[in-house]
Amino acid sequence: MAAFGFRPVRALLAIAMTIAATLACSCARHPQLVRVISQKPNYEVEEVRLIGRPILSGENSLQVGGSKVFPYKRDLSSNLTTEILKQKLDPKKSYSFYVYTTDQTFPSSPFLNRSEAHLSKIEDGGKMIADASICEVHHCPMEFVAEDFITWQLRSKKEEHLMDQVYRHHALTTPGDCGVGYYDWTWRCPKCAAAVKAFKSKYPVWE
Ligand SMILES: [Zn+2]
Repeated sequence: MAAFGFRPVRALLAIAMTIAATLACSCARHPQLVRVISQKPNYEVEEVRLIGRPILSGENSLQVGGSKVFPYKRDLSSNLTTEILKQKLDPKKSYSFYVYTTDQTFPSSPFLNRSEAHLSKIEDGGKMIADASICEVHHCPMEFVAEDFITWQLRSKKEEHLMDQVYRHHALTTPGDCGVGYYDWTWRCPKCAAAVKAFKSKYPVWE
């Protein structure tokens, strides 16, 4: 009977040790604040740095530094796809990951609060090896912004293609109908945005 009695105690001890090890590990690899990008009553955007080995598990999932799990939301316009990260990153090496975190809060309904992490750039010993903030079409720096709503109707697949592929960093989205008020964050290229504006002005019937 005594042997049976020990089992739950040993199991609890093992769980406690695992939790302690996880906490110690996550503290050691706590994200370092690089800068606060914007601070509003209902949201805050910060740039943080994580140092560690990458674990890519499935689409849009990046863990950095052993057991420390960091959510990674890749907006569809980001040029850092999982395939590209797999090509560039060696899982045995440690890198510096710069991540933009967005914390959106709803004081009257805190259960709606939402935090996301968007990968910005990756450095290997001070050398930049991936940068989501440069437009791959126009090769110019982009701004990290909340998407704005599109104010016209797309009429054809061709227009949809131009918007989403050719001018892909336009930072526009169609209004959602959930009404919660979540922002979608993305990279905005001034040249992609200007191209969409020029394209739209050629087709005023879109309005
Ligand atoms: Zn562009």
